[in-house]
Amino acid sequence: MNKTAIFYNPVFLEHNTGGHPENADRLKSIVDKLKSSSFAKGLEWIIPQPALISTIELVHPVEHIRSIEERIKDGVAYLDADTIVCPASWEAAITAVGAIDQAVAGVMTGKFKNAFCAVRPPGHHAEPNKSMGFCIFNNAAIGAKAAIGQGASRVAIVDFDVHHGNGTQAAFYDDPSLFFVSTHQEFIYPGTGHESETGAKKGAGTNMNVPLQAGAGDAAFLSVFDETIIPALRKFAPEFIIISAGFDAHEADPLAGLSLTTTGFAGITGKIIELANEICEGRVASTLEGGYNLSALADSVKAHVGEMLK
Ligand SMILES: [Zn+2]
Repeated sequence: MNKTAIFYNPVFLEHNTGGHPENADRLKSIVDKLKSSSFAKGLEWIIPQPALISTIELVHPVEHIRSIEERIKDGVAYLDADTIVCPASWEAAITAVGAIDQAVAGVMTGKFKNAFCAVRPPGHHAEPNKSMGFCIFNNAAIGAKAAIGQGASRVAIVDFDVHHGNGTQAAFYDDPSLFFVSTHQEFIYPGTGHESETGAKKGAGTNMNVPLQAGAGDAAFLSVFDETIIPALRKFAPEFIIISAGFDAHEADPLAGLSLTTTGFAGITGKIIELANEICEGRVASTLEGGYNLSALADSVKAHVGEMLK
């Protein structure tokens, strides 16, 4: 099967954050754009189901999961200063995890070529014991563990969101079977992501941070991928690649200061897909993280998915 699966469930729209930048309109614009794209026939839409608690436990301790569930169901409005929730957020959060878990399973068993999870809440700031930065559970990290559970001996996560994926780094810092690489704007939220953070113990050398200066655009991204990231991934030789696909490094994004364009997102995605085709039979699952300018986000996701189809 050469299709790209799009995992999307309308329950994601019910995670109501009011006028927050991370809101339901983001997904509406993505879904409209993909459905009207010239390559729409190559997409297979799948409605993901909620993850089992045991799946979320691949990364998060059960006590933490239950405490988040209780707080959301008790009606708290904030999990941390940035992370707004409503009662429907629980179902959305566990279904976002379900999406990447089911996407990984489908790619591993060859049901479709690769998959993009159009989900919210995003996940890469969520640490094993802490929900933060608009994120409740770490979708990408759980997806990576699910791939390991299904037989991949090494998994890489490529995170090109403009913010550092602190939660993913924390989940795998001493794990030699997971290679995490993050490009992000230096000195912004959450403050982690220095080049010197390279992993610990048996995981030493399996964590790579590539902080970029404000204003860095397509040329900087493409050369970092060509010269640093792709060679490192090739050396690690993952059997599955997860993408933490944040689109807030776009030049039009209101939350940060990098200057990637829609073409740039296509360029870096193309490099990841090309490498995956070369080394791991194209096995890739991508999950949405940030991206807050609605038209730039929709256009960039379209460019990203268009490359996944190649
Ligand atoms: Zn971000």
